[in-house]
Amino acid sequence: MNETAPTPNSLSFFSATTFNQVAISTTALRKNFIVLRQAIARHVQIMAMVKADAYGHGMVETARIVADAGCDCFGVAEIEEGVALRVAGVKGQIFVILGFQASQEQFFFDYDLTPVVFDDQSLKLLSNAAKRNDQILAVHIKIDCGMGRLGIIPTQASEFIKKIESFPGLSLAGIMSHFPLADVVTSHHTLESFQLYQEICRQHGQRNPIVSHIANSGASLYFPLTCCDMVRLGISLYGYYPDGAQHTHAADTSLTEPLTPVMSFTTRVVQVKSVPAGTGISYGHSFITNKETRIAVLPVGYANGFLRSLSNKAQVLIKGQRAPIIGRVCMNLCMADISDIDSVQSGDQVVILGTQDTETITADEIAGWMGTISYEVLCLFGNNNKRSYSS
Ligand SMILES: *Cc1c(COP(=O)(O)O)cnc(C)c1O
Repeated sequence: MNETAPTPNSLSFFSATTFNQVAISTTALRKNFIVLRQAIARHVQIMAMVKADAYGHGMVETARIVADAGCDCFGVAEIEEGVALRVAGVKGQIFVILGFQASQEQFFFDYDLTPVVFDDQSLKLLSNAAKRNDQILAVHIKIDCGMGRLGIIPTQASEFIKKIESFPGLSLAGIMSHFPLADVVTSHHTLESFQLYQEICRQHGQRNPIVSHIANSGASLYFPLTCCDMVRLGISLYGYYPDGAQHTHAADTSLTEPLTPVMSFTTRVVQVKSVPAGTGISYGHSFITNKETRIAVLPVGYANGFLRSLSNKAQVLIKGQRAPIIGRVCMNLCMADISDIDSVQSGDQVVILGTQDTETITADEIAGWMGTISYEVLCLFGNNNKRSYSS
């Protein structure tokens, strides 16, 4: 190896050498937090949901950026994520929302993490650990008020709450729940399950003050009455509306400015060529050219989260124009039809997600082609490619 060759242990080596770049706009992320902070009542705390590596945006980096903008509460799925945030120096409260495994209890004490509880076994483990540590551990409980997922069902809530109070070393600091339909502006379900939730909080809250939180991005934006003491924001921080709608600030939210997408994803053309009419493109020949066609070969595929289901559906931006993806998306390659775009060359930048000149492709649009939601697109792109951060 050449003595002066760049070494693989420098970050710039990697970001300079891969075709596929996920760029995270620190300005957009910071701005979304501030716009959301202004839209949500002042007494309501914001928990930034940074699980799944912050929906593909990078957990530690995202937490640091929103912390700098004033966020002091974070939500992760598992203990190891909470530990990683602490090790990176993130302050504030960190909630572990999906439980823990026996023998992991000590992490809650060593790293000052807040557990969310929903079963007897974890109460016993946490209580024993609290006694060993000679500490009182504050826990939040999860109630299933109609989500049909994690949590204690409402009819068993008061018994479970009494159980917590009977365990030495544990104190009930909060009651949380989650809405299944908060992104459906017209649904009655959200307010109905909110009533059920409020009833449980009221019964307990009369005896002890608790922190109540049930609202995700959808509820915070479309059902602001449900914000309680704290809201848990994920997708809106990353610049998308939970229902995929292009809400403007003037529409049915209290946002004074629209949210700004934080992630973009680009690649580079690796080959340009013209093929005659009747040429089969890619595996299975699912696309056959019906005229002489100029194609750009792109070094991106399902290994990069650009899923095979996007075959013959997606579009990308080249020279500021939309080019359709033709044929199957392969593991690391796909083809774009650039017959209508002039002077494309190998090395040209291709936008998969984001803006080029005056054209934009959003995660909602890609989600539409994939039959999914923006959340999944962001996780796929962000967690399967090198990320870089810039303002
Ligand atoms: C991920 C998550 C959220 C955030 O939901 P968004 O729709 O992304 O705002 C809120 N609460 C819980 C329990 C979650 O798991």
